Amino acid sequence: MDAIRGSRVCARPSSTRALVRPQSPVSHGRVSGTTVGGSGRGLSARRRAANTERAAEQKEVLDQIQKTIRSARAANTNPDYFELLGVEVGDDLKKIKKSYRARARVCHPDVAGEDGHEACIVLNEAYATLMDEDLREAYEFEQEEFDYYDDGNVFAQAMKETPYSGEPLSKQVPLDHFANRIEKDDLLRQGEQLAKAVFVDEISCIGCQYCVTCAAATFRNDEDTGRARVFGQWLSTEDEIQEAIDMCPVDCIHWVPKEQLAPLEYVMQHVLTERVGVSLMMSGQGAHRMEDGFQKTREFLKFLSQREEKRDAVLKERKRKAEMKRAREEMMRQQQEQWDQRKKDAWKRANGTGR
Ligand code: SF4
Repeated sequence: MDAIRGSRVCARPSSTRALVRPQSPVSHGRVSGTTVGGSGRGLSARRRAANTERAAEQKEVLDQIQKTIRSARAANTNPDYFELLGVEVGDDLKKIKKSYRARARVCHPDVAGEDGHEACIVLNEAYATLMDEDLREAYEFEQEEFDYYDDGNVFAQAMKETPYSGEPLSKQVPLDHFANRIEKDDLLRQGEQLAKAVFVDEISCIGCQYCVTCAAATFRNDEDTGRARVFGQWLSTEDEIQEAIDMCPVDCIHWVPKEQLAPLEYVMQHVLTERVGVSLMMSGQGAHRMEDGFQKTREFLKFLSQREEKRDAVLKERKRKAEMKRAREEMMRQQQEQWDQRKKDAWKRANGTGR
């Protein structure tokens, strides 16, 4: 039987086989060679087109992320995390996660090369912030404050440029550091020294440099304005600093309580920025407003406490709204369940299966 079957196949002329093949379901109505080869080329062309389209989309996403980062850097602010992740305020965590994963794939250095490295870091930061409830709340609050900044409030403007950290700007060295000149043997005196710091009212300073001569490790003259500034706290002995205070012709060096140093220095360096260079001032070619740095610092502290109150109120209100939303959704879910159950019961009754 096998021999007969084999002989039949072999007996079929090659020309007949060529005629039979086009009648198969796959290649019906087409010349065999052309159909198979043409389909393969068409498929790979479609794949190539799809790949090109996907690569263009990924490049567009990467470009958009990098543009967001660059414009934030130019404005000296943090990038908009929602824009960075391609989500909206109020989107749920599932959506944020999905969008982040898609974008992280695009920015991965293995895909985007060196360009994607920074984008990946900022993207991770944005993701970590938006996925954490407390961090997201704080971030959203900061974002809302931008409107406040536009009101022309000098403190808010300054904080937009340079955030206030609450830390002094002059150098601080630990008590056991070799450069620290705080009293080590007399503990009573040491306690008094630890409680105070030295501060220069740069607006009043006339750049005579007497303080630098008396306590060179502590005072430096600002390169741009020629006015003195405290470089580091307790890098000179108390006697040296006191001598500088006594020598100052315009009484602009002050001992201040340590806790007041950070806001005083911040206000002096980032809020009251209007300064005329000493040489220009001495030649009578210019002057600046003689603002009271201490009064301005009191106003700054008041601003900070009002800001804190506002922040608490906003967060409280937001929590209240979120709870109301949750309660409303829960109520709607329960109503839907009841409604579905009623429909099922009615269906069973109508079909006589509910008894
Ligand atoms: S002594 Fe007073 S006025 Fe002279 S540079 Fe120092 S801080 Fe300025």
